[in-house]
Amino acid sequence: MEKPKLRLVIPKDEISLKIKELSEKIDKDFDEEPIVFIATLKGAFMFASDLLKHIKNPNVEVDFVRVKSYGLSDKSSGKVELIKDIEIPVEGKNVIIVEDIVDTGLTLKFLYERLKALKPKTLKVCALIDKKERREVDIPVDYIGFEVEKGFLVGYGLDFAEKYRHLSEVYEMVKDE
Ligand code: 5GP
Repeated sequence: MEKPKLRLVIPKDEISLKIKELSEKIDKDFDEEPIVFIATLKGAFMFASDLLKHIKNPNVEVDFVRVKSYGLSDKSSGKVELIKDIEIPVEGKNVIIVEDIVDTGLTLKFLYERLKALKPKTLKVCALIDKKERREVDIPVDYIGFEVEKGFLVGYGLDFAEKYRHLSEVYEMVKDE
């Protein structure tokens, strides 16, 4: 396979500005009410880390889930599998799911319904990227970083076959014909 080309889509200064905006909005909406942030591994690790550093609310807990919906390719398998569950009880608490990217929406729907069944007080979704082109299920995203129409994105947590997660900006992977 040819070495894929990366085209810059979201530069780091835009990411940091957006993260400030999102964290201010969350702080405004919840003030000092307790919140459990649930970040989805591995893709949201960088986004969640940067976002949480800006949250001023002192009553914050952080947990992680790992949901797998993609194999080692850029096509969704359509199947969602829970690989790591939350460890903090969420019943009666405000919960915010921190997602990297919403594509078909299947992963988020699975996670949303699973967490909803645990009876949180509120359940919100914060996603870095909302990619609408292949959306199959309607799922509300309360806090959206960026809307991107299409393309396979890597960097800032997002991988292709486990590579590129460490990059500090978001790129589109452009395959050579
Ligand atoms: P969905 O279930 O919404 O189709 O996909 C959600 C998951 O698929 C995301 O959490 C992410 O892990 C992966 N995904 C969807 N679109 C992309 C993309 O453009 N790039 C990468 N690297 N992963 C994606």
